[in-house]
Amino acid sequence: MNINGKTTVFGIIGDPIEHTMSPFIHNIISRAVGIDAVYVPFRANGDMVNITKGLYALGVKGINVTVPYKTKIIPQLYMVEEVAQRIGAVNTLKYTEEGYKGYNTDILGLDRELIKEGISLDNRNVVILGAGGAARAVAFMCAGKAVSSITIVNRTLAKAESIKESLVEYLIAKGNFSLGEKIYVMTAEELKQRGEGGYVAFQCTNVGLSPKVDECVICDEAFYEKVEIGIDLIYKPARTRFMKYVEEAGGRAFNGLRMLIYQAVCSYEIWNDIKVPDEVVGLIEEKMLK
Ligand code: NAP
Repeated sequence: MNINGKTTVFGIIGDPIEHTMSPFIHNIISRAVGIDAVYVPFRANGDMVNITKGLYALGVKGINVTVPYKTKIIPQLYMVEEVAQRIGAVNTLKYTEEGYKGYNTDILGLDRELIKEGISLDNRNVVILGAGGAARAVAFMCAGKAVSSITIVNRTLAKAESIKESLVEYLIAKGNFSLGEKIYVMTAEELKQRGEGGYVAFQCTNVGLSPKVDECVICDEAFYEKVEIGIDLIYKPARTRFMKYVEEAGGRAFNGLRMLIYQAVCSYEIWNDIKVPDEVVGLIEEKMLK
């Protein structure tokens, strides 16, 4: 990497930020596609007004936003793309003449991963385990598809209810009344009593995340027999307990690594108005698995 006076700067703000893989991914992309850019981490102190003004004044062309600022940054933006506005979280800011515009590429990244794996959510019963920020993004992605139903299962039911409320509001605004009636919130225990199967299940809790790799948010075999496709958003470890149970019951299982890579790729494409070739995604994955 040859940084010079013309090098474009991209970066990520969050706190903590030490664990982020984004600089690794973005700097590989820049090298692979031949764009003179550098991507750096910024540990941000929570002062959203000055952070946004400072980055803008310095001409930082693209910023990723991570925990705990994905919602807090929104009032500082000139404009927020529609789905990100509905979710109430952005992870990507693009520099424009008027100010930063916000996007949510967590949704775009997961969508791209599903397309890549040939997974269609049409007419599927979707189960979402968890009701944090990631679960909310997954729920909105599913609500934009022709799914049959969405069931949100969480330890704290009030958080699942809050996602359901936002989803129903979104679906009513889109005129999709039938799906609005098929959004359910329940406990893992209640899910057990449900008859239907063929689930596409998204594991969106922190349970099973390294180093507590032996944990799983649902351990019941009867649940996994109903899961045809299980996507764990966790990517460390590469094969979680959830994935193991899905596969042992005959389903297909995926981890969250490609979703992470694709959300970065989608941000990069928004900032640079280019299409990142699939070979570059493969290259990043290879390097991350080393
Ligand atoms: P978050 O907002 O903190 O939400 C955490 C969720 O996990 C909540 O639903 C929480 O339940 C649940 N949970 C935590 N400990 C639990 C336990 N012991 N038993 C049952 N439920 C428990 O986190 P997030 O941002 O949504 O992230 C969730 C996971 O997704 C993380 O592991 C993160 O690494 C992963 N992720 C991956 C990507 C990717 O690109 N692959 C992107 C985003 C996130 P309560 O509501 O009851 O507390």
